[in-house]
Amino acid sequence: MKSLVYVANHRVEIQERPVPDPGPGEVLLKVASAGICGSDVDGFLGRSRKRIPPLVMGHEFSGTLVQDTDDGSLKAGQRVSVLPLRGCGACGYCASGRTNMCPGRVLIGMDVPGAFAEYVTAPRDALYPLPDKVSAAEAVFAEPLANGIHLSRLLPSPISESALVLGTGTIGLLAIAVLKRAGVRTIVATDTNAARLGVAREMGAAAGVLASRPETASTIEETIGKAPLIIDCIGRAETRALGIEVAAPGGLVIWIGQYDGEMAGEARDVTTKELTIRGSYGYTTDDFEQSLMMIGDEPATFRRLVMLEPLEKGQQIFEMLVSKPGATVKVALVP
Ligand SMILES: [Zn+2]
Ligand SMILES: [Zn+2]
Repeated sequence: MKSLVYVANHRVEIQERPVPDPGPGEVLLKVASAGICGSDVDGFLGRSRKRIPPLVMGHEFSGTLVQDTDDGSLKAGQRVSVLPLRGCGACGYCASGRTNMCPGRVLIGMDVPGAFAEYVTAPRDALYPLPDKVSAAEAVFAEPLANGIHLSRLLPSPISESALVLGTGTIGLLAIAVLKRAGVRTIVATDTNAARLGVAREMGAAAGVLASRPETASTIEETIGKAPLIIDCIGRAETRALGIEVAAPGGLVIWIGQYDGEMAGEARDVTTKELTIRGSYGYTTDDFEQSLMMIGDEPATFRRLVMLEPLEKGQQIFEMLVSKPGATVKVALVP
């Protein structure tokens, strides 16, 4: 089968590989489409510690069953979305449903071969039948939006009137969708990419602030005032500092982006403004299920965020995502 293999830093190539054999409890799927995640781009750049070449990446995917499942509950040809993150099933985190914290968790496309290929194997119990109204294009958001659903569980109650979203990549844009759904009236987004700020406004942001320190903080405050709720979808030292600077007293800052591990900024603000800083990492099985429901409710919201491209163009697409993504939010590769 055709596979797009990450072979070295800045290099993916099409290779012919054998169709994988499903192991016990697994099924074989014909991939319909697989989204390129920011973490796959990090892998391509050699910045992901866990993505070691040679590797077939791709964890945001849907496909069709090649054969009936053993128990006969799903038939060959059934379209399914796949929960790509699996816990060990034996630890305390797994027992409490927090598979995103499981030390033994396994991600398809990182720890085992992924969906940038014609076929992929997946655990039988990771399959979720797709409704007819959700196409293979929208289905790639099941996994990234699950991150947004996870984040939404950390939001304050009652919900803040306004919020600031730092970064308008996929997670930032999905965070805007989730904040709107949670009832936040005024959402302001920042990014260094003006085209993406346009997309953020289409998704419901009231304003977009083109980030260029040090003017960014004052522009944000002119637009929204001090922000009671800040979602950092970048996770650079600069954005962490900015979030703490523009947070309102008593505010909540959620860190979901993890671009680098550096800290900067006026740490005393955390004390004097009594800020709460919370991390949001990955998603649970429950978040994934909620995500699929939200996509089923409003597929059009997600359809316009994705561009389908043939698997063969992998190298070119990865290069484009690194150098000049423009308004492109999500590319899904079609084998
Ligand atoms: Zn991802
Ligand atoms: Zn576990």
